[in-house]
Amino acid sequence: MTQNAVEGALTSVEAYVDEIRSVIRPLPPSDLGLADAEGCVLAEDVAAAVSLPSFDNSSMDGYAVMSSDLTPASERSMVTLPVTAEIAAGDTGAYRLAPGTAMKIMTGARLPAEADAVVPVEWTDGGDTRVSFSRPVAAGNAVRYVGGDAVAGSILLTTGTRMRPMQIAVAASSGRRTVSVRPKPRVVVLSTGDELSEPGTPLVPGRIWDSNSYMIAALAREAGAVAHRRAVVPDEVAGVLPAILEHLTHADVVITTGGVSMGGSHDVVKAALAKLGTVTFRKVGMQPGMPQGFGVVGPGDVPIFTLPGNPVSAYVSFQLFVRPALGFLQGLDDLRLPSVSASLTSAVRSPSGRRSFLRGVLSGDKVAPLTGQESHQIAALGRANALIIVPEWETQLSAGDTVDTIVLPLASVPGVTAS
Ligand code: AMP
Ligand code: MG
Repeated sequence: MTQNAVEGALTSVEAYVDEIRSVIRPLPPSDLGLADAEGCVLAEDVAAAVSLPSFDNSSMDGYAVMSSDLTPASERSMVTLPVTAEIAAGDTGAYRLAPGTAMKIMTGARLPAEADAVVPVEWTDGGDTRVSFSRPVAAGNAVRYVGGDAVAGSILLTTGTRMRPMQIAVAASSGRRTVSVRPKPRVVVLSTGDELSEPGTPLVPGRIWDSNSYMIAALAREAGAVAHRRAVVPDEVAGVLPAILEHLTHADVVITTGGVSMGGSHDVVKAALAKLGTVTFRKVGMQPGMPQGFGVVGPGDVPIFTLPGNPVSAYVSFQLFVRPALGFLQGLDDLRLPSVSASLTSAVRSPSGRRSFLRGVLSGDKVAPLTGQESHQIAALGRANALIIVPEWETQLSAGDTVDTIVLPLASVPGVTAS
């Protein structure tokens, strides 16, 4: 069957995503310690338990003073004050500065009462018992005031935020030992095909190395999941269902690749799952990635995606359908990849009635289609940082035409900031 000979109604990409969205429920949240919450999505707002900072403190090593004492200070007429204490960070003593005196103070140490400024040690002679100042200091100099970062009770992190290192720091700084997060979806990846050999093993003519399962597991992790690939499933209908069912107790999503084409007797995934009646196979109006299957399996109604076997088809299918689904599981409404407008550097072709996702290299506001646009051409995928979208109604576009372009995750695109 040629790629253009499409029979029967095609489901649109949007309708298919909507259908997936209607099935997938967010995973229930649980309280996790900060270390374990890393990478998970918050299911609560995190407020500052106290003001940050919670006490006035020094931002430098120096001397706490009353700024009015230093008003007359100059190079020619130094002001010298007795040093009455040394306050280190963590010192909880209640210090009170008397007029006409100074206290040595370290970065992060609590400002003594009545002091209104800190003079950096570099501006002084650094004395221990007496200190001389050669210039005045403004009130508030080098002081970090209570609430200068955040006021007690203010919301620092909102529901739906992923706990990346910065957010972990914010939660810890606001006194949280645990946070309520949705767990990372557990994804099991199975690839099917008698032709598949494990990478690293010798290749016999007629066989290929399995790239899909590694790629899909990596994509799932990139989308916030915990993913494991399982051994390759042979092309036997009888073996496919047990291989899937075996993993349902520890999976929130199962992803298979291969075995869902348009009617070969080797389409074992389709044949095995069609019997259950809970997984729907359809043609989506896109290229690559037309044959798609989605539904639920097992007593726990675990969502399953059966992606086409060609690696580029599997890649594009994952980014368009599985990635948003992993977002829904994490309580994220939209994990879709951002897209930008760009101008084509060369002409492209696309089948009528199907939306093409061509591999390209995006640089600034230009996108260059890669050579090697067939769905088995993994080498070109390895060079891509973007997917060029050619709408259903276009069969060819010319150099200079404007296209929507999906920016691939973590793509380094000169001159483009993905939103
Ligand atoms: P299928 O969807 O099973 O008909 O496979 C379509 C094409 O994708 C065939 O050329 C397969 O050899 C190839 N393919 C299937 N699974 C994988 C895999 N795990 N890794 C690499 N290529 C695959
Ligand atoms: Mg196959």
